[in-house]
Amino acid sequence: MSAENHIVIIGSGGAGSEAALTIRQRDPDCHITQITGSKLPFISRYELPQVFNGVSGWRELLAEPPEYYDKNQITVRRNSWVDHVDAKNKKVLLKHKEEVSYDKLLVASGGGGYLPEGLREFQPLMNGFGTYEQAVKVRQALPKKGHVIMLGGDMTGLDLARTLVAVGHRVSLVVGEQLFWPHEVTDDQRAKFVSVLEDMGIKVMIDKKVTAVKLGGRGKPARRVVFDGGGGIDGDVVMPFCGLMPSLNFMIGADVDIERGLLVNPELKTTNDSIWAAGDVCQIWSPEENSYLFYYGWHYIKEMGKIAAINMTGGKKKISTYQDDHLYINKQGEIDSPYWMYR
Ligand SMILES: Cc1cc2nc3c(=O)[nH]c(=O)nc-3n(C[C@H](O)[C@H](O)[C@H](O)COP(=O)(O)OP(=O)(O)OC[C@H]3O[C@@H](n4cnc5c(N)ncnc54)[C@H](O)[C@@H]3O)c2cc1C
Repeated sequence: MSAENHIVIIGSGGAGSEAALTIRQRDPDCHITQITGSKLPFISRYELPQVFNGVSGWRELLAEPPEYYDKNQITVRRNSWVDHVDAKNKKVLLKHKEEVSYDKLLVASGGGGYLPEGLREFQPLMNGFGTYEQAVKVRQALPKKGHVIMLGGDMTGLDLARTLVAVGHRVSLVVGEQLFWPHEVTDDQRAKFVSVLEDMGIKVMIDKKVTAVKLGGRGKPARRVVFDGGGGIDGDVVMPFCGLMPSLNFMIGADVDIERGLLVNPELKTTNDSIWAAGDVCQIWSPEENSYLFYYGWHYIKEMGKIAAINMTGGKKKISTYQDDHLYINKQGEIDSPYWMYR
């Protein structure tokens, strides 16, 4: 590969970072640029719950030391949001009006928390948990033995819930359609897993429909969640955990096929010959299921980054579209998930 070859990666999460390193290992000469909207270097989002468990600064969560990027000659453009991609002229256009040319492009832009329509108007009164800054905001809003109200109940939220309970906070979960997402469970399994959640110290509220999130009354906790038919609960923080929405608006019009995610073949190539995708942003063609599917989990998204990188540097490797994604009860009697095996 020639020295002027420029590989641009949109995203500096697990998938994009694994890809950058693999590309460098396979091609010492090419130019690698990672573009990220994040202000911070790569922080493992899986470790974010640790801000409630002794982690006091973002440096403690860095996936790689700062010198790693110089050593591997990987340029990381932080605080740079991609506005759109001009696939015809092979350019990435940044929101601050700069253009970055590429020879090959990897889209590893992940996703953000999905918010069901009925909850959107209450967003300003709820807390997200996708970035270090958001995690710190939640910590600041929670008094000692504070009360967190979670809406939905996807696996990211349950991961945080077990840490919050372990450090002495209370968690009430108002169950939504996304309970245990992305796992699919039968009704019988669901009842069993719910009782295990309760044994883990999480208060589970089933069959409650949220109609509003409001500011708390005078002398009361900061928020109130109101239920259909009357009643509600008070808490210090309200957090929606309702699954994931791929971040790919900037790819609309970029000569790639999109369903809910960016569609790729098992070699992780999009319908454009110069563009690949990896991580939470993409849906991979599964010959077994005869459809495009999302695949999650730390190991898997890293594997996607690696395989995309191999194929971008002249290899030809397919990702396995079989994944064991069963929720289970571990030896400690707690629910556990293959998605949580990231350490
Ligand atoms: C608190 C928490 C706990 C979690 N725990 C688990 C867990 O236990 N197990 C598990 O499997 N998963 C867990 N997840 C989910 C996990 O973090 C994601 O699956 C994983 O981070 C996806 O990696 P990714 O590289 O695809 O995308 P991300 O890590 O989401 O990275 C996306 C990157 O793209 C950048 N980006 C996006 N849009 C743009 C744009 N327009 N311009 C420039 N840059 C852009 C972002 O800044 C970021 O750098 C957790 C998530 C959170 C928030």
